[in-house]
Amino acid sequence: MIWSILYRGPLSGCNYSCTYCPFAKKKDSKKVLEMDSQQLHKFVNWVSIQSDKTINILFTPWGEGLIRKHYQDAIIQLSQMPNVGKVSIQTNLSCKLKWLESSNKEKVALWTTYHPTQTTLTQFLNKCQQLDILKIKYSVGVVGFREALPEIEMMRQKLSKSTYLWINALKKNPDYYSTDDIRRMSVVDPHIHYNLQNHESKGFYCRAGHTTFSVNGDGDVSRCHFIKEIIGNIYDVDFEQRLFPKLCINDTCGCHIGYVHLEKLNIEKDFGDGILERIATNF
Ligand code: SF4
Ligand code: SF4
Repeated sequence: MIWSILYRGPLSGCNYSCTYCPFAKKKDSKKVLEMDSQQLHKFVNWVSIQSDKTINILFTPWGEGLIRKHYQDAIIQLSQMPNVGKVSIQTNLSCKLKWLESSNKEKVALWTTYHPTQTTLTQFLNKCQQLDILKIKYSVGVVGFREALPEIEMMRQKLSKSTYLWINALKKNPDYYSTDDIRRMSVVDPHIHYNLQNHESKGFYCRAGHTTFSVNGDGDVSRCHFIKEIIGNIYDVDFEQRLFPKLCINDTCGCHIGYVHLEKLNIEKDFGDGILERIATNF
């Protein structure tokens, strides 16, 4: 059995201040950070005893986790477990990277996002070069604000050719992008068509709740980040019985961390085993 787990603990603070984000410059209290650390430690221990599974993990903190040592330690530990296939985290890549030398680099893959208002292209590319030297796999993403398009194109030119650059499309306003914007974005990210739409999902089989699921700091499980109903708790002995094939109950699914599990999209053909960390195989 192969499980893909999205873990999100209580941490929600971030060292960046992107204007569109509710976690901008939010500072977690000492108490929250301690709880986050303890709960993460418990989760890592639980993963270590799931010896009959292969477990892939994507940390999706509300804020920035990698500036915290307990996430760095968790990634190092998980990467060294024989039953872990992959460990990944969504990060703004602002942290120091030397600690990654202690990880099993074969199993670590980072989902990094460039925030043009918070750092410079040069600084971000320098971090990418450090990852290249460390031989850590990673994708780079940018939010597709129209005014950021020139910088996104510049990023594509300067980034290593072997690094996939994805764009998160803004979908609230269907007329937000012109035909030419979409053409330009498709040159940068040939797979942006997946993200330019909210995929019809109600009644379709999705691996969420079956072989992939979301876990919070208490161990509560929901099938995905977008359907909040708790279906069990990983620390309960009968937990596995709650996992079985399910049909999506939401009308649509518009985020990569969700629609990639919709079987009808067959996204493996473009992302292979890089689905969790968003690394496409062909671009
Ligand atoms: S880096 Fe991410 S979490 Fe932090 S403020 Fe920006 S969007 Fe929010
Ligand atoms: S399609 Fe999206 S919203 Fe529906 S179950 Fe899957 S991940 Fe959740």
